[in-house]
Amino acid sequence: MDEKRKALLKTLPKIDEVILLLEKKDIYSLAPRELVKETCRMAVQKLREKIVNVKKKGTAEFFADAAGVAREVENIIKGFYRYNLRRVVNATGVILHTNLGRAPLCPEALQRINEIGRGYSNLEFDLDKGERGQRYDHVNRLLCALTGAENALIVNNNAAAVLLVINTLAEGKEAIVSRGELIEIGGEFRIPEIMKKSAARLREVGTTNRTRLSDYEKAINKETGLILKVHTSNYRIVGFTEEADIESLVALGKKRRIPVMDDLGSGCVIALEDYGLEHEPTIREVLSAGVDVVTFSGDKLLGGPQAGIIIGKKEILEKIKKNPLNRALRIDKFTLAALEATVIHYLNPSEALKKLRPLKTLTEPVSEVKKRARKLLKKLQKENLEFIELSLRDGFSTAGGGSLPTQKIPTVLISIKNKKMSASRMEEKLRKLDVPVIVRVDKNEILIDLRTVSEDEFAFIVEGLRSIISD
Ligand SMILES: *Cc1c(COP(=O)(O)O)cnc(C)c1O
Repeated sequence: MDEKRKALLKTLPKIDEVILLLEKKDIYSLAPRELVKETCRMAVQKLREKIVNVKKKGTAEFFADAAGVAREVENIIKGFYRYNLRRVVNATGVILHTNLGRAPLCPEALQRINEIGRGYSNLEFDLDKGERGQRYDHVNRLLCALTGAENALIVNNNAAAVLLVINTLAEGKEAIVSRGELIEIGGEFRIPEIMKKSAARLREVGTTNRTRLSDYEKAINKETGLILKVHTSNYRIVGFTEEADIESLVALGKKRRIPVMDDLGSGCVIALEDYGLEHEPTIREVLSAGVDVVTFSGDKLLGGPQAGIIIGKKEILEKIKKNPLNRALRIDKFTLAALEATVIHYLNPSEALKKLRPLKTLTEPVSEVKKRARKLLKKLQKENLEFIELSLRDGFSTAGGGSLPTQKIPTVLISIKNKKMSASRMEEKLRKLDVPVIVRVDKNEILIDLRTVSEDEFAFIVEGLRSIISD
């Protein structure tokens, strides 16, 4: 080690020295003693490593004095007070963006979370009988009325719902699935793996592009516990294809006394083709085909909180409810409160389209999106930002969240070019704002998709852009 480094190491402050300085700043009102001490130790250690590892010897400047380290420690501790989970502006045009929290909740759901969360509730208390009740009962009646199901159960998410149903109906048995439906949703959710964890044996039938009813028929034996249909929610197989329709699978299941399950993924309640979108199977449609049990997410097209909803025949639901796994996958009172408020909107479908943001965003006419784009463009132009070039452009949004994978949804984009800063640098700076603005990057421009941006988020974009350009 060179002399300069050795000399620098000797200037490293003692931990006690740093702590003394911090005590004068009343640091213990911000954090407990152990945390302050540990943070000091880490800050000094980081400095030591910096001195030892620095490439150009002796040229870097180090704040190796106690005051410098104290400032650093104070900043780290103050940083703990900043919320890490934050709201962001989703300008990507991906409507159900899993990484950005999928469905934004409706105001009624938020209000209910507040009301139920702040005090006690009848979560598991039957107010009529004055005895223990079931947490699921609160939303069950409504879910059944809206979908035509006999009974319902809600768990943590749809992955949990699929796991629980397969485990209940096919533990130690075979579950038949088409090779065209062995999906991966992302985040490790793969049908063959879920099957393994459910202790069921996967019985693949057919081929990737073609599976016939007779393939299912031939696969049935005394070990068969379940026929499973999985909605290929994030891809489509097109071209020379064939699949067994749900009605014939139901007929087959009835004949051979084997339950039929449909993992729908997206909880679509409303006929989307009425709004110029592709047909997405609705829950009622699948149930009326006679399927025994259907699973779907609460936070995809349904527009509610994260949840896995299981609906179907009474006796099957009773069996599922008694599975000890159910207790490990149960949902909390906030989810129930938000889900109930979300589902109520479906009593009046045209209201649901206005109140539930994913549905509203998905079905909004492009002319409305354009109006909003013009408004934001005007605001941005008013800022007279130096080196910035703004323009409007047509494009496409996507549904995301494993819904409508081939649907191109027309939208309007604002393109922002910066003569002094690359698009990827702009993207990064916008992403690091206090209220991050998440945008698309296309070569030398960033794109703001107005379909997923609401008017009350304009200020974050305008101020955000101003601040990243002026600093
Ligand atoms: C999204 C999806 C899942 C997983 O649902 P989560 O709510 O994300 O757990 C399972 N199956 C299908 C078909 C899906 O689309």
